[in-house]
Formats: sequence, structure tokens, C-alpha cells
Amino acid sequence: MAVVPPRQVAILSIANFEEICEKISPQAADEAMEELRLMAIGCGVDPGFMRLLHRNTLLLRLDELPRQEFLDAIHCMAGHAKSLVTSATTNLHPCVRVGAMSERALRSLVNDAADDLLSYMNHVDCSAAFLAGDELDIWQQFHSNGIELLNHEQLKYIDPFTSLLRPGRFFDLLQDILDQGDHRNDDIQVLYFDIDDFKSYNRAFSYEEGDKLLLFVANQIEDAFPSDIVSYLSVDRFAVITNSNDIVRKCATIHERTRAFNRAFAPEVKCGAYRLDADVESAHLALDCAKLTCESIKGRYDVSFRCFDNDLRERMFTRRYVAHHAEQAIEGNWIQAFAQPVVDTVTGDLCSFEALARWMDPEIGMLSPAVFIPTLEEAHLIHMLDLCVVEQVCQFLSTRIHEGEHGLHASINLSRLDFSLCDAVHEITKMCDRWEIPRHMLAVEVTESALDSDLNLRQEMDRFRAAGFEVWMDDFGCGYSSLNLLKDYEFDVLKVDMEFLRDMESNQRSKTIVASVIRMAKSLGIRTLVEGVETKEQCEFLREAGCDMMQGYLFGRPRPLDELAI
Ligand code: C2E
Ligand code: MG
Ligand code: MG
Repeated sequence: MAVVPPRQVAILSIANFEEICEKISPQAADEAMEELRLMAIGCGVDPGFMRLLHRNTLLLRLDELPRQEFLDAIHCMAGHAKSLVTSATTNLHPCVRVGAMSERALRSLVNDAADDLLSYMNHVDCSAAFLAGDELDIWQQFHSNGIELLNHEQLKYIDPFTSLLRPGRFFDLLQDILDQGDHRNDDIQVLYFDIDDFKSYNRAFSYEEGDKLLLFVANQIEDAFPSDIVSYLSVDRFAVITNSNDIVRKCATIHERTRAFNRAFAPEVKCGAYRLDADVESAHLALDCAKLTCESIKGRYDVSFRCFDNDLRERMFTRRYVAHHAEQAIEGNWIQAFAQPVVDTVTGDLCSFEALARWMDPEIGMLSPAVFIPTLEEAHLIHMLDLCVVEQVCQFLSTRIHEGEHGLHASINLSRLDFSLCDAVHEITKMCDRWEIPRHMLAVEVTESALDSDLNLRQEMDRFRAAGFEVWMDDFGCGYSSLNLLKDYEFDVLKVDMEFLRDMESNQRSKTIVASVIRMAKSLGIRTLVEGVETKEQCEFLREAGCDMMQGYLFGRPRPLDELAI
């Protein structure tokens, strides 16, 4: 389709269109839109060049007007829009938006007029594209800065869903700032925003509602930082580059408004802030610092904002160290499988052990999985670590078998990513066979959060079971879909999350829950193992409740394999 490119275009939109449909009527919303259209004609826009992009979005083309007149006309239209459309709906004022982007982002994007905008609009679903910023002040900025509209080339930097900058462009701009040393004179911070538990929100309210929440948060961030660089990074993450000196208050507002967006769920937007300093030279590192800061307050209900500090600097250092030494650690045998005993509740004997990875670093000493597992997952090397642990476990079991001990079992932890990074079933089977370990001696632990995110894993779990391995569900009860997973997957053992034991002494309900989980598992033919047993009282309670196996500091901490004993 040949589209004659317009010289100059603008977009008018009613942002709260849906709300008007719901609260007043769809007809009233359409009438408000019609008002907007008539107003545009009144301002001299040729109706032949006017298009409804969406029910609430109008594309205007002002071909013949010189640039200044075009801007004046749009400005004037924007000025009239509010009062005109307000008359169409009595008590819910339509919020009229005019296409504009944050001034700073635009400044770095813009040079020519929007030649290809129309054809672009015709090819993508652009209900949200190019619409950002609230009301007239942004438009005014747009106007007073003499900024041109985006052209086709420039639009590729814009995420069509949120109308914010795409991450690639964000990194380029951040890198430019670092390269030019702007941050040495100006106090510039990088902010990283993340919505806690967005997955659960989607599940609880549907993907459509999840999208609405994302757009709401995108708008809140854009509104709070109207003249800064705002980017939509991925799923539920956003980033901002700003020199505002009012960040804490702005983030608190975003947080509060988002909680109020759905009071039943009260979604939490967390923000981590990193102030650019002279040491940091790479945009990726700068964003990583902000991201780590944000992650450090994930799941905490008392904090929604944190600044990068020395403690985080230390963690960042360890993370980077791990990322840089990952291959060396795996190839150089720094990864060691530790074993934590699992006891039979009835006999009190050692019946199995869980293999837990430790990074024995020649320079910085022992690192725990919490430090290196996420980094190895990010580096797509986690399968190497897991296979390395399996190999050590097989070797150990093989020695025990040769010594005449046939009753000892072992469980290993797998990451969700193992299944996409390698054929885990095939690799583990091969290893087991090479060491001549009967497969039933080895159990594979998968956490419910891993299964939860990927239904394809069901097939892999079935393959493990068909090959003769046991499949155990780890950390049962700490996620949101534990019971659902029991319906869909077959497990040999449920490992009940240790959180249930934490307040058992003071909280009768925790006891009741653990006891019912054990009963339920039994009736489904699944054995139970409770983790984190630290006291005799807990042990006694679990014995009475009919739990099959126990694991915890009471019986032994994770120790090197050859020290395994209870
Ligand atoms: P997990 O599989 O749930 O392992 C149990 C964790 O609880 C272990 O922490 C263990 O040391 C700790 N623990 C055991 N008994 C007690 C107790 O009585 N009280 C308390 N407070 N803690 C106890 P660890 O070794 O730090 O491992 C943390 C997590 O890292 C593991 O949780 C597992 O998800 C992951 N992980 C460990 N090793 C590997 C591995 O080789 N591969 C993969 N993919 N993940 C691993
Ligand atoms: Mg485990
Ligand atoms: Mg566990």
C-alpha cells in the first residue's frame, strides 16, 4: 500500500477512555472522541487527513502548515481539547493527551520531521505508541524546545507497548553520558524499577490486567520523570536516567499510586538507585548496580526504595568476580559438592543426603550458592555446575557401593535453566550409568518456582521418572501454586519448605498446615521430607505427624562429601 508520507503529524488521545466507557457509557466515550475530532477540524485540520488509530486515538496530519504554524495549531488544539471534551461527559473529565515524549529522550533522538510516521502507524498496533506524558505541560515543553516529531528511523527506538525507550537505545544514551563525562559535573542517577510478584498478579487477574498494570506503572514513571530518559527494559522492569534531586519522593509516589491501582493486591514497585561515579565506565555495569540495589529489597514490605551503598558494592564485586571466574571455577575444581544428611523419621538412620554446591575459592574462600547460583544462571553456565555436582555425587556413591553400602540415596538440585542449556535427563543418565549407580539411588530436586514457570518441564520430569530416577519437589509451599503443581505433576517426595517450621513453637497454625500437608501427600502416595529441622521439639512433632524424612541442622550441616555422617 502506497502511503503518501505526511509532513507533520500529531496524535490526540483520551487516556482514560476505558474508564469513561465503564463508569459512564461507551457511547459517552465515543461522543467525547467525536468532540475531539470536531475540535481538530475547527482548528483547521483537514478531515480527509484525519484517522482514528484506535477508538481513543486520533492521528492528525497538517500537511500544508509551516512548522511554526503547525506547532501553534497543535498547541491551540491541546488548549481547547480539555474544555471541549469535558462537556461531552458530565462528571468524569476525559484526560486528553498529545503525542510527545520525554524531552531528554527526544533531544537525543530527533532531527527530521515525521515522514514515515503514518506508514509506521499503519503497520503496527500503535494504541500506545508515541503517547506518553500527561496533559499539556509536556506538550508545552515539546513546543518550547522546538522539538520535531519522530521519523520512522527514530521510532524503532520506541517500545510500541509502553511508548518508552527500548533498552538498546537506553544503554547507548547512558554510555554516551559516561563517555562524555557528563556525570562528573552533574549529579546523575540510574534508577531500576521492578514490580514485585508480577507473575502472581498476572495469574491472579489475567494477562490483560497485567498489561494494564504495566502501562499504569510505565505512565507513573514517565509522569514522575517527564524530562528524563525513561526506558522499558523487559517484562516488569523499567529504568530511568535522571538528575532530579527529588527522587525519593517521586519513587514514593509511584509506589503509593501503584499500590492503590489495585487495592486487593497492592502491587509493589521497588526502585534501586545508583549514582554514577567516576569509577564506573560501562552502562551495563551502572545498570547492574541499580538492579542489584533493587533486587536487595525485593519481597520486603517495609522498603520500596534503596540507594547503592558499600554493602552492595561488596556484593557487586563478588558477583562480578563470580561471573569472571565461572569457567575457571568449574574447570579448576573449585566447585565442591557438600552433603547434608537426611534421616529416616522412624529409625533415625541416615537414609539419604542432599548435595549442595560450594565454591571453594583459592582467593576469597568459600562462597555459598546464594552468591554464585544466580550469577551462573545469568551466565548460562549453571548446567556445568550442576553436572559437576552430579559427577561428584556419582563418584562418591560408587565408592560407597564398592564398600558394600547399598542403602544410601542422594538428591541433587537442578535449575530450571538446566533443561534449556543441555539435555539434563540424557547427561545425568549417562553419568549415572558410567559410574554404575542404580538410578533409583538418585533423586532430582526441582523447585516449584521452576516448574511453575514452564509447563514443558513436565515432559522432562516424566523422562526422569521413566528412566528410573526419583523426582522431588523442593521448597514445597513457599510459592503460589504448590497445590496446582501436585495436580499436574507426579512427584516421589515433597520437601516441605523450612519456613513452616520457623514459627512452629509459637504458631499453632503452622503446625496444623504441616500436619495436613503430610496427610495430604500420604493420601496421594507421595513421601514427605521436612527441611530445616533444628530442634528436638520440631523433630518430635514431625515424627507424630507421620513425616517420612527429615533434614536440618539438628542432624548435621552441609559438610564435604567424605565427612558425611550423622
Ligand atoms: P535447598 O535445595 O532448599 O537447600 C536447602 C538449604 O537450606 C541449604 O542452603 C541448606 O544449607 C539450608 N539448610 C539446611 N538445613 C537447615 C536448617 O536446619 N536451618 C537453616 N536455616 N538452613 C538449613 P544452601 O546450601 O545455602 O543452598 C541454598 C539453595 O541453593 C538450595 O536450597 C538450592 O536451591 C540451591 N543450590 C544448592 N546447591 C545447588 C546445586 O548444586 N545446584 C543448583 N541448581 N542449586 C543449588
Ligand atoms: Mg534442595
Ligand atoms: Mg529446599
